Amino acid sequence: MPAKRDYYEVLDVKENATDEEIRKAFRKKAFQYHPDHNREDGAEEKFKEINEAYEVLSDAEKRATYDRFGHSGSDGLFRQGFDGFDFGFGDIFDAFFGGAATATRQAPQRGAPLEYQLEITLEEAAFSCEKEIEITRTENCSGCQGTGSKSGTQPVRCPNCDGAGQVRRVQASIFGRFTNVATCPQCRGEGRIITEHCPQCRGTGREKLKRNITVKVPAGVDSNTQLRMRGEGNAGTRGGPSGDLFVAISVRQHEYFMRRGDDILYELPINFAEAALGTELSVPTLDGDHKLKVRAGCQTGTVFRIKNKGIPHLSRDGHGDELVTVSVTTPESLTREQRRLFEELASSLGTGKKKKRKH
Ligand SMILES: [Zn+2]
Ligand SMILES: [Zn+2]
Repeated sequence: MPAKRDYYEVLDVKENATDEEIRKAFRKKAFQYHPDHNREDGAEEKFKEINEAYEVLSDAEKRATYDRFGHSGSDGLFRQGFDGFDFGFGDIFDAFFGGAATATRQAPQRGAPLEYQLEITLEEAAFSCEKEIEITRTENCSGCQGTGSKSGTQPVRCPNCDGAGQVRRVQASIFGRFTNVATCPQCRGEGRIITEHCPQCRGTGREKLKRNITVKVPAGVDSNTQLRMRGEGNAGTRGGPSGDLFVAISVRQHEYFMRRGDDILYELPINFAEAALGTELSVPTLDGDHKLKVRAGCQTGTVFRIKNKGIPHLSRDGHGDELVTVSVTTPESLTREQRRLFEELASSLGTGKKKKRKH
């Protein structure tokens, strides 16, 4: 085994070099010998040697030990790790040169979704409508386009993590070597530090704004239908896409129609005479009146089906129906003349007829 070279020599720095000089020298050397683009014989060995030297010289404690004892001091403590080579090339390369730094830095994130409750009438649910709603959402600040920096200033690369957004610390222990990765506390993982804050958003890059949005409600929706409006939610972070806006529909109760699925239910009150003699009546539907023939002798509970006068199906062609249920009403008060006529009718119809149970 050839004699180990002096660490200062490996990095080509003076023995009293500052941390910054050591860091710069390491970056230059590591870039030069990185096995990804240096295929010369021995480049990988060189790269390992450079890493090892940097690991010792960049750590004040290890450097002090090395300064005092040379390789004999550092070997026992630090050597085994490099023989096992548990130090990811790619990782350290990315951290220093920003090669894939975006992958290690916090990734772009989609904005949070928003929800809005929209109440509409049954007619609007049946025939579709357009509604303007007002929402409050987070957008990228218009003063700084989301950068958080005052206009004319630029954020600087975070000196603590060198733009990686993460800090790595390699620790030697009796169990082996560990690489701890933590979010950089100085830039909170952004990799950049804002020098002068945008006054409009105080450096957050974001602002809350009220926006009017036009919602196209398709025919056939019902309560619990949720409409998704892509990208109308909160803005994403770090260039991520905006979240979605979910419009939750609730259909208001109608004065005299009920809804069952896509059918409309209507109760048609008729009087004794109409029920007994039969009649033709005008029945309301969602799109105007409809003539309905009630045959003579019609009973309470008789159902008439008016085809295609219900709600359009949301996901297929066609409509539901309107179901008209007859309800024969008993008059609650009578005029003298009506009373006389009913008495006459009563004696004509006879009383006390027992209805036989059908078996
Ligand atoms: Zn701003
Ligand atoms: Zn940082």
